Amino acid sequence: MINLNNTDLLLDSCPVGGEWSHAQSGKTMSVVNAATGQKIAEVPLMGQAETQQAIAAAEMAQKAWKMQTAASRAKILHRWVSLIQENTEDLARLITSEGGKPLAEARGEVNYAASFISWFAEEAKRVDGVLLQPTNPDQRFIVSKQPVGVCAAITPWNFPAAMITRKVAPALAAGCAIIVKPAEQTPLTALALAKLAELAGLPKALLQVITGDAKEIGGELCRNATVRKLSFTGSTETGRLLMAQCAPTIKKLSLELGGNAPVIVFDDADLGLAVKGIMASKFRNSGQTCVCANRIYVQSGIYQKLCDELVKAVEALKVGNGMDDGVTQGPLINAKAIEKVELHLNDALQKGATLLTGGHKHPLGGNYFAPTVVANITQEMRFAREETFGPVAALFKFDRDDEVVNYANDTEFGLAAYIFTQDAKRQWQIPEALEYGMVGVNTGLISNEVAPFGGIKQSGLGREGSRFGIDEYLEMKYVCVNLA
Ligand code: ADP
Repeated sequence: MINLNNTDLLLDSCPVGGEWSHAQSGKTMSVVNAATGQKIAEVPLMGQAETQQAIAAAEMAQKAWKMQTAASRAKILHRWVSLIQENTEDLARLITSEGGKPLAEARGEVNYAASFISWFAEEAKRVDGVLLQPTNPDQRFIVSKQPVGVCAAITPWNFPAAMITRKVAPALAAGCAIIVKPAEQTPLTALALAKLAELAGLPKALLQVITGDAKEIGGELCRNATVRKLSFTGSTETGRLLMAQCAPTIKKLSLELGGNAPVIVFDDADLGLAVKGIMASKFRNSGQTCVCANRIYVQSGIYQKLCDELVKAVEALKVGNGMDDGVTQGPLINAKAIEKVELHLNDALQKGATLLTGGHKHPLGGNYFAPTVVANITQEMRFAREETFGPVAALFKFDRDDEVVNYANDTEFGLAAYIFTQDAKRQWQIPEALEYGMVGVNTGLISNEVAPFGGIKQSGLGREGSRFGIDEYLEMKYVCVNLA
């Protein structure tokens, strides 16, 4: 059970076609508590028919929404923010229950999620066009921006609120309608957010949430020509599939896919800052974010000291149910996640890595894994190639700058990277040489609503958040007026 102050936020139906509905088949799917494995709710198991209904309703609703002024759309979005803030505690409880992250992190996520809505409410007012110099004195060249229309979002479980608002807010601000298919593990937060949007006065069918069969719902969202844009956050594998499915209808795409974030700690780094940065980047959400440090490259002069300090910090983490006070590490999302961590760890240990702390399932059982530090990792191990998505800090030793840049770039991913150095030259040159969409210098936390979030290479397409993020939901129109 989830204990909420406002029980209206625990929903068992979906806002589809303008009404809160159950699946046409009457079927449901269970949502389980990530910490206890117990069932906490049932949500509709919807599929293709409900998705088609949602798309048709979105198309109608968007026609009126795009005609409203940006200021009037912003007003509704700001009211939505206020309601989210008033209900922070309940939303955080939903996030922790279904996703597992500690309550303090979940509260932080609610704030972070709301920040995208406030930001894009204001950005809506700054969408403007230009008048170009004509090539003929009797002509005028006008460039304006218009909403793309009906959009779809498919989102992951690791940020059940923020990955939704980061897509929904710019879409609504731009004058689009959006249909969200939340991750099957975390639909409750999505439904609660939609309920609050409705209470804020958002007209029906502009934000619809469909829970159920990912393949069926996703298949229809990709196939249907009325949907003009898909924004997806999740694995590179699924992103690749969705991109192919969107090819026949040439949809606009935003893809936030997997990462394999390197952290580079140079000899001249401030050791305390580096440890703090690694802890923030690596152990947030128990290592389950796409910008989590996956490979920690440490220069030989500082290597031993960093190992010692990191082990101390990791051993101070408190593992447990995210609802309990003082817990800093919740469970992993499911048994498959534990298997992946074990696979990477065993592969490394067999190839000569050294375990410094942890390295096993946590005595609490379930999906808990002991926070781990493992040293002497090399480029031949899985840690170098694949995203581990768990609480394991994997340490590599390096000597030269050019060598570590090559190691860091030797991956098909290019989302986030971090460096720790006090040398001004390195602070400029290394980020320039790193093939990543985002680089943190002397910090392990870089995501916020102001900055453009996104990757290069096979980490994705497009940027979310920031003043650039709204462009993903706008089309450019050029009008040539002949005055003669
Ligand atoms: P993860 O391994 O983190 O679950 P996925 O990429 O599989 O990553 O999941 C992210 C989102 O993509 C979830 O909402 C999931 O339901 C959805 N998803 C997974 N497979 C498909 C698919 N074939 N079509 C549409 N959505 C999918």
